[in-house]
Amino acid sequence: MDFNLSKQQRDIVRAAKEFANGEFPPVAADFDREERFDLGLWRKACDLGFVGTFIPEAYEGAGLGFFEHCLITEEFWAVDPGIGQAILATTFGAELLILFASEEQKQRLLPPLVEGKDMLATAITEPDAGSDPTQAVTTAVKDGDEWVISGSKMFITNGTCAGHALVFCLTDPEHPSPHQRHSFILVETDRPGFSARKIKGKLGIRASDTAELAFSDVRVPAANLVGEEGRGFFQLMEFFNRTRLHICAQGVGLMRACLEDSVRHVKNRRQFGQPLAAFQATQFKIAEMATRMRAARNLYYNAAWLVDQGKVDHGLIAMAKWFSAQGAVQAADEALQMHGGYGYIDEYRVQRLYRDAKILEIYEGAKEVEKLIVARTILG
Ligand SMILES: Cc1cc2nc3c(=O)[nH]c(=O)nc-3n(C[C@H](O)[C@H](O)[C@H](O)COP(=O)(O)OP(=O)(O)OC[C@H]3O[C@@H](n4cnc5c(N)ncnc54)[C@H](O)[C@@H]3O)c2cc1C
Repeated sequence: MDFNLSKQQRDIVRAAKEFANGEFPPVAADFDREERFDLGLWRKACDLGFVGTFIPEAYEGAGLGFFEHCLITEEFWAVDPGIGQAILATTFGAELLILFASEEQKQRLLPPLVEGKDMLATAITEPDAGSDPTQAVTTAVKDGDEWVISGSKMFITNGTCAGHALVFCLTDPEHPSPHQRHSFILVETDRPGFSARKIKGKLGIRASDTAELAFSDVRVPAANLVGEEGRGFFQLMEFFNRTRLHICAQGVGLMRACLEDSVRHVKNRRQFGQPLAAFQATQFKIAEMATRMRAARNLYYNAAWLVDQGKVDHGLIAMAKWFSAQGAVQAADEALQMHGGYGYIDEYRVQRLYRDAKILEIYEGAKEVEKLIVARTILG
């Protein structure tokens, strides 16, 4: 463990570790193989207070920081990334609500997330708009005191199980600035015209629900606008400045899992008359993996701590995001390599970690996009 964590933070880490180690291993391989999840496990995690810890106490959360949420994320991902995502991403969008929603919206939407009664989906990506969200064409048109939404969204986490979706909609297509054409609008997923189709066949994090959403003239009250009209792009950037921290913690958790499995394997497996751990080539791999993990953790601790102090450093967050993601992919590759043929079969966790790692370089800003952000903060 790095830094001088408070007693409360150490207790959170211990409890999260204990929960994940006790609950995830018996079911992780099945959830992965069958691309499913047991909602009972999510409710249990809610009951124990692991979900939505960053939600203020006024809305039934623990009122802790993003830092503490990251600590829990790291522990869950260090045991099983798919289950970690299935449980903790159920609040994906709460960060946006905390920042921009009306008091009435917060009172209504946030408590059920903590209590295990509802999940959120945040729908930005579309078939033709990914890294560049300004290209999103799912459109919301005002009709009296309602918005009428039509279009589709792609790769949406919790898409088939969320009770509410925060949808990034084109509300002012004629605005001269592409950054002022979109708004977030809340959609209750039982509205007529809304449908969700589960996407099967993902490479990794297969316990987590991912869906394609369709909006066919979905009508919602005008009051479902979140924050100010036309500010969706700027809200999205602020949202990502919180959620990307979680991705960094995911990467560190996954690196830890790779390191743990690799250390165990290279100490036990003997070739040429000695354990694999005795070969310098193996030692270098372990040393590099451990160094990248510690460096990535330091980056996210620093970035998350600053956010909780109200000092958002988006360049640092982007650095932490790509570095952690890339480190996780490297760690999974090397861990599998050290396992040889055993790493290639699904009897060993390392095969799953190898598949789970890749998403970290893609979602919430692909690594190339993160590097562009870092470069911009330096080059102007
Ligand atoms: C499992 C999963 C869960 C997801 N969950 C959600 C969710 O809940 N909500 C949501 O809205 N979206 C979600 N996504 C979508 C995800 O955020 C996008 O896949 C991601 O933003 C990349 O967009 P894209 O897939 O359209 O790729 P593209 O934008 O087409 O990018 C393809 C490649 O081109 C590169 N590239 C793009 N632009 C540049 C550039 N300017 N310079 C250099 N390289 C560039 C990218 O880095 C990437 O490597 C999820 C995706 C997956 C797979």
